[in-house]
Amino acid sequence: MTPAVYLDYNATTPVRPEAAAAVADALALTGNASSVHRFGRLARRKLEDAREAVAALVGAPAERVVFTSGGTEANNLALTGAGCARRLVSAGEHDSVLNAAAGAEGGAERIPLRRDGVVDLDALEARLGEDSRPALVSVMLANNETGVIQPVARAAETAHGRGALVHCDAVQGAGKIPVDMAALGVDLLSLSAHKLGGPQGVGALIVAEGIALAPLMLGGGQERRHRAGTENLPGIAGFGAAAECALAGLERMAGLAELRDRLERRLRARAPEIKIYGAGAPRLSNTSCFGVPGLAAETQVMALDLAGIAVSAGAACSSGKVAPSHVLGAMGASEAEAGSAIRISLGWDSGAPDIERFLEAWSALYSRIARGTSARGTPAANPAA
Ligand code: PLP
Repeated sequence: MTPAVYLDYNATTPVRPEAAAAVADALALTGNASSVHRFGRLARRKLEDAREAVAALVGAPAERVVFTSGGTEANNLALTGAGCARRLVSAGEHDSVLNAAAGAEGGAERIPLRRDGVVDLDALEARLGEDSRPALVSVMLANNETGVIQPVARAAETAHGRGALVHCDAVQGAGKIPVDMAALGVDLLSLSAHKLGGPQGVGALIVAEGIALAPLMLGGGQERRHRAGTENLPGIAGFGAAAECALAGLERMAGLAELRDRLERRLRARAPEIKIYGAGAPRLSNTSCFGVPGLAAETQVMALDLAGIAVSAGAACSSGKVAPSHVLGAMGASEAEAGSAIRISLGWDSGAPDIERFLEAWSALYSRIARGTSARGTPAANPAA
């Protein structure tokens, strides 16, 4: 049987062997990092080593790292813990930001995206000027569906100029592009281990010095009182190992652009009517989100799955059900267009053969659809016409 091809790294990445080994090592340890005896001290050492590795990935001091149960919790902690009356979020944010922001007085204020997927900074500035209540602005580093990289440093400058705090969901950007929290100028930054080769269910919020944050979890004084509960040491150790590998592998990640661009060239040649979302903006090297009118995302995902190839619907799919993508909608895509978009995302062990297998299977699917459309009287080469 031909091996399966995994092209869904933005959903989750295969765990790196170094991370799996670190998890196993930590599981073999006895000891609570809060205990003062030797077992506790050993656990503490592991925890603090991982904290340093995670901090190094984003150029932050280790003591600013608060470990959480993942990117979702980090985003919730930032959005609600900062306690700002107003929460302004870019319209393409992940649901964990949008839904956490919705708890603000008067709900979340969404800052529109331009058609290329980049947040509209003029709109942000105008919106901030309308109301002087304390505000938190949240702009992600890179979008999970399109890979579009946001002008976070400029957004932070604008927001700080108006006295607002700034949060950045760097879950998809970290480990794919260099991240320097100080250069971004943000106050809070979210990370998730499983997007960079670590285990699922562990993440971090990096909290800049001097930022007051109310905890979501109440209990003991762990994580400098920002997050109560015994730390998930095996997960955190795996996160630390993955962060080290991700930092060392940034060049290889950048090199994935060659594969992605080759894929897009061949797709355009095969299906000239294809729409590639965010292609005109700076994008993560590993991500391509595209659609052909008339070729439903669900059909593609299922047909590709039967061919042993794993991709995502461009539409967010958190419960196994595909819903219209708010990201593509915010970029001006119609519901039908958004409903035909799929995402391929490459990662640390993707290679050219993966792309070839995808192209072969996708082209066969496209030909079938085009033939069907043609039989109904539309030119085969352009099912959208
Ligand atoms: N933020 C972004 C941009 C994401 O893509 C995801 C996961 O898909 C999350 C946050 C949530 O992270 P986690 O799965 O660790 O809760």
